[in-house]
Amino acid sequence: MLQQRTIKTLTRAVGVGLHSGQRVELTLRPAQADTGIVFRRVDLPEPVDIPITAMAVVDTRMASTIGAGGAKVHTVEHLMSACAGLGLDNLYIDITAEEVPILDGSSASFVFLLQSAGVELQNAPKRFIRVKRPVEVREGDGNHLKWARLDPYHGFKLRFEIDFAHPAVDSTGQSVEFDLGSGNYTRDIARARTFGFTKDVEMLRSNGLALGGGLDNAIVMDDYKVLNSDGLRYDAEFARHKILDAMGDLYLVGKPLLAAYSAFRSGHAMNNLLLRELLAHEDAWEIVTFQNERHAPAGFAQPARAW
Ligand SMILES: [Zn+2]
Repeated sequence: MLQQRTIKTLTRAVGVGLHSGQRVELTLRPAQADTGIVFRRVDLPEPVDIPITAMAVVDTRMASTIGAGGAKVHTVEHLMSACAGLGLDNLYIDITAEEVPILDGSSASFVFLLQSAGVELQNAPKRFIRVKRPVEVREGDGNHLKWARLDPYHGFKLRFEIDFAHPAVDSTGQSVEFDLGSGNYTRDIARARTFGFTKDVEMLRSNGLALGGGLDNAIVMDDYKVLNSDGLRYDAEFARHKILDAMGDLYLVGKPLLAAYSAFRSGHAMNNLLLRELLAHEDAWEIVTFQNERHAPAGFAQPARAW
């Protein structure tokens, strides 16, 4: 049987929120089989649980925000991406503020934390959402066209194309494909950082956003070039980060997808719309488990793979 996974022991991290600039503590704790991933706001007078689901996404401006019972958590996508990359099904995430810490702007620190805690196999079958027919969302046309789609695939792969008219982005790859079966999430995706432009950062700050942002946790560009003194971590780091984000956004559906995702200029809003479009069509998906691990797709079959 292909089993569900949680972590072996609890682990902690402290950082600042990208937008709030607030200090925040995260405690990641093991959870029983079939719990799913649950954020818990432990700073409120009565702790509030926010289980992840596509419908728990309440805001997608700048980042993916989830909410329940009047409580919210912003910027969940990089931590969710790390959980997707490591194949974790069950986890409690205690948080002391409204925003997940940005750390270095990628998911590498979360991967390190989760791997340090160790992966525990659980006595319950891992449940997947298998996409049975193509599902697509599309917006705008010409220069404003963007789309995202899911196609049936025995595994999980993503292809993302960006289209930024900026010299620093043009000079790198604008399209990246990543297959969880043949690729290596930690090596190929996890270190790709979020990115922004100085003019946007100034505008955001005047609106009380991006207060925790800077060269330590983002690729920052002026009109011509990357300002970070150590440059980029990958060729196509920008497009790789969009794959990192998409993996996190899609994992908010609550189970790993068996699908091929492809997107052109998509973002948090469109990724969530795609999940809702999928769930709205019951003929487009089904829940599957693998009693025989050998029938599970590559990338999911190896328990606690050394990423
Ligand atoms: Zn991101």
